[in-house]
Amino acid sequence: MNASPHHIVILGGGTAGWLVAGVLGAEFDTSSIKVTLIESPTTPAIGVGEGTWPSMKSTLLKIGLSERMFLEECSAALKQGTHFKNWLHGKGETYYHPFTLPHGFGEINLADHWIRGHLGDQSFASSVTPQFAVCEAGLAPKQLSVPEYAYTLNYGYHLDAGKFAAMLSAHAVNNLGVEHVLADVTAVTSRENGDIEALVTDKGPIAGDLFIDCSGFRSVLLGEHYNVPFVSQRHVLFNDSALAVQVPYGSDSKIATTTKSTAHEAGWIWDIGLQHRRGVGAVFSSAHASAEAIEPQLDTYLKESGSASGLSEFEPRLIRFDPGYRASFWHKNCVAVGLSAGFIEPLEASALVLVELSARSIAQQFPKTRQQMGTVAQRFNAEFLQRWEQIIEFLKLHYVLSQRDDSAYWIEHRQAASVPTALTEKLADWCHRCPWHLDERRVDEMFPSASYQYVLYGMNFKSELGKDSRRHSEASLARAHALKAEVDAQSSRYLQHLPCHRSLLDKAIAHGFAG
Ligand SMILES: Cc1cc2nc3c(=O)[nH]c(=O)nc-3n(C[C@H](O)[C@H](O)[C@H](O)COP(=O)(O)OP(=O)(O)OC[C@H]3O[C@@H](n4cnc5c(N)ncnc54)[C@H](O)[C@@H]3O)c2cc1C
Repeated sequence: MNASPHHIVILGGGTAGWLVAGVLGAEFDTSSIKVTLIESPTTPAIGVGEGTWPSMKSTLLKIGLSERMFLEECSAALKQGTHFKNWLHGKGETYYHPFTLPHGFGEINLADHWIRGHLGDQSFASSVTPQFAVCEAGLAPKQLSVPEYAYTLNYGYHLDAGKFAAMLSAHAVNNLGVEHVLADVTAVTSRENGDIEALVTDKGPIAGDLFIDCSGFRSVLLGEHYNVPFVSQRHVLFNDSALAVQVPYGSDSKIATTTKSTAHEAGWIWDIGLQHRRGVGAVFSSAHASAEAIEPQLDTYLKESGSASGLSEFEPRLIRFDPGYRASFWHKNCVAVGLSAGFIEPLEASALVLVELSARSIAQQFPKTRQQMGTVAQRFNAEFLQRWEQIIEFLKLHYVLSQRDDSAYWIEHRQAASVPTALTEKLADWCHRCPWHLDERRVDEMFPSASYQYVLYGMNFKSELGKDSRRHSEASLARAHALKAEVDAQSSRYLQHLPCHRSLLDKAIAHGFAG
């Protein structure tokens, strides 16, 4: 291999492959670093994965895509967080995990005051952010006068996965100089040091310096070729299956501005609103229920959410997955991104953000020499192992806090042996204080302590704080009252001035955002 890596070969043309191609194509001048993406003409991409984090705004901006074009081509909508239903008791109770941080989050821990009853008796989210009121009213998080990717309230997206990959592909090939090869990879040739030399395809071998495995669940390079062990997480997070349908609706239907996550006896149902359809799917654990047993739950959900003939109109698609991740992600001159690196379950939509972070990390730390690649790989592996662990802890939190006892699924989720030790320790700590910045070991943690607050206090977790014996407690109380008054004032203002979600999308596509 050349002293200086100059050819990156990506295997796989799903969302992961094309997002990585877009980020690397935008980062590097193709005359010094060439990017080639190989995609099978016969193996389809998975075609799900339609909820993103707010981070997608900066990824799209980095790739050089206009938000208006993205919204139009991907039938996309704006996602302001997740609305949970039936997670606590299964009796219709709800709460939000919004994307906007509690007001004044950099300065003061409002959770502390909310628990002490200083902010009134409304729910936690409604006390600390105007995003609660805006989501309840189905309004957009910004006005047309706010420029592309800027916002009044933070948002990510709901998008059509197939259209997204197609748009990224056209942009990467036409504007960023990414070479696209439609071929099946049938074998791998190796160098003496164990590095991959070339991918053998039905159109001839394709040699490279760094290979990015975006081949989906098959994990053709990291899994099949290198046999990097798979670390199952089935004992922590039981879900391994989903039944998915696409529910078309009219161009005048309301578009939800949050992902709806509704728990059922053996899992939960996602409901994602796009411009022309909803994507609805029941996630479940095959150890606790069969697909046949889940169908009636999905049927009832569809009927109750406006699709009168329920499941009878649709052929649900059954998707199976093995919850877990690879023991390492960067091995020799190969790094896995997307499903080939691992997948847990779609709760909190943490898969695409890992793709974005991986692509960004590869671009920023791209090794100058083969020797340096070992150091970069070590750092990448440590960083992403920690991220997987954080995701697992945060997802498990939703199940541990549930008080549902209507099935073995929910009861077993609370058994101590299934809960990561780090989460058990954090929960014990939070019995006596609220999550706060000091819980975050690094600035780039996956989930800020605000996310923990929204879930903990949305699900009635009790932190017993005792007397506030700080010297400045009165000043802090006065500041908390002032911030709460601002939240209330912003809520009323936004309810008056923010447009309805569909109307904003229609106008943004027709005229573009300001600026
Ligand atoms: C039920 C479900 C719901 C999900 N929901 C969300 C969500 O809301 N939010 C989120 O962030 N993520 C979600 N995800 C995850 C998300 O779908 C994936 O992270 C994302 O689609 C990326 O997939 P991928 O590109 O890694 O794999 P794939 O889409 O499977 O693409 C694999 C690619 O590799 C190619 N390939 C494979 N073998 C070969 C070969 N031998 N030769 C050539 N090409 C080959 C295929 O042709 C294909 O192009 C969900 C996943 C599931 C299962």
